[in-house]
Amino acid sequence: MSARAARLPLLHLVPTATAASHRWRDNAACLGLDAELFFPVDNRAASVETPRRVCRGCPVRAECLADVMATEEPARRFGVVGGTTPGERRVLHRAGLAITTPLVGGEVA
Ligand code: SF4
Repeated sequence: MSARAARLPLLHLVPTATAASHRWRDNAACLGLDAELFFPVDNRAASVETPRRVCRGCPVRAECLADVMATEEPARRFGVVGGTTPGERRVLHRAGLAITTPLVGGEVA
């Protein structure tokens, strides 16, 4: 060990609460996919079907949707996240719904 290194305080790096709470992302079905897939040119059913299909099979969909609903700026909603379109998330936001349980199958109305 160099003399300079010996003077430095030892740092014990631990995950922050934020890093630890985002571990679910490690299991995301979209991990490694092209992000462009989740930003279709419009929100027509045919355009959002492919990203929705990925989200439908995602084991962390509930965590993903809860996270985006808690952190996304309501006026700046883009892309398909947690299997929902920006318009669907606006409806959830206006209704004041909290996502607390895993979604089963279908779409968010
Ligand atoms: S629900 Fe969709 S956007 Fe969210 S982590 Fe899973 S695949 Fe990605």
